[in-house]
Amino acid sequence: MRYIDPHIHMISRTTDDYARMAYAGCVAISEPAFWAGFDRGTAAGFHDYFRHLTEVEPKRAAQYHIRHYSWLCINAKEAENVALSRDVIAMIPEFLGKPGVLGIGEIGLNKNTPNEATVFQEHVDLAMKTNELILIHTPHLEDKFKGTRMIVDMLLGDRRVTPGRVCIDHVEEHTVRLALDNGFWCGMTLYPVTKMTPSRAADVIEMYGSDHIMVNSAGDWGRSDPLAVPEFIQEMKRRGHPAEVIDKVVYQNPLTFWKQANNWKDEPAPATAHARGGY
Ligand SMILES: [Zn+2]
Repeated sequence: MRYIDPHIHMISRTTDDYARMAYAGCVAISEPAFWAGFDRGTAAGFHDYFRHLTEVEPKRAAQYHIRHYSWLCINAKEAENVALSRDVIAMIPEFLGKPGVLGIGEIGLNKNTPNEATVFQEHVDLAMKTNELILIHTPHLEDKFKGTRMIVDMLLGDRRVTPGRVCIDHVEEHTVRLALDNGFWCGMTLYPVTKMTPSRAADVIEMYGSDHIMVNSAGDWGRSDPLAVPEFIQEMKRRGHPAEVIDKVVYQNPLTFWKQANNWKDEPAPATAHARGGY
């Protein structure tokens, strides 16, 4: 069954992962900018990272007929350095017109500090000035509800923000309504050890329906599973959900959200021509 993984950090994954994802039906992914596992020291480090996301990963993905899209930002974990964050934000517009760039993300909060809130709002301001979509990271700590509430309040407090052009990611049972009831898209992250399991995600679909909701692996350099979305598909099949509902959650919904992107040019159909580019 075809599927999209709308949140995965392929820079941290092997080419074998691309191959296994393709075998499992993956036709497209989007890769948000995130924390490298250490705080980067310079804006130039981010410049190289953004080149990696927009130039190198699309070529790796194309070898397996997977379309690669990306989101750009400085992660909340690095937002305590406000001066560096501002240098990075100032550099982002240079990349916004590159093929496959969907918008600003994953921005959000980590420890819900004032500096994180400042950098978050400056990213939102950039997205509004450049008419970009936004992908939101919500905190994984025990204060997820508080962090999500702060993020939703900041977004709703900016009259320029259209909730239908924002996806709030890593929602769980206690935050999904905060996103959906306010008109946002939302993403559920399927992790082997923390966040949602495929079965909890299926429960949420059964409770809240399949509108404006998607699932992702958020695969990165930590413990995570790049095949989490196919595992969710299996769980939904096991429960007897019709193929149309599963396809909506794992393919149509992310695509519908992405198609609003300022820079959107094409659909993630198999990219045979690109695949010959080599790597
Ligand atoms: Zn992420």
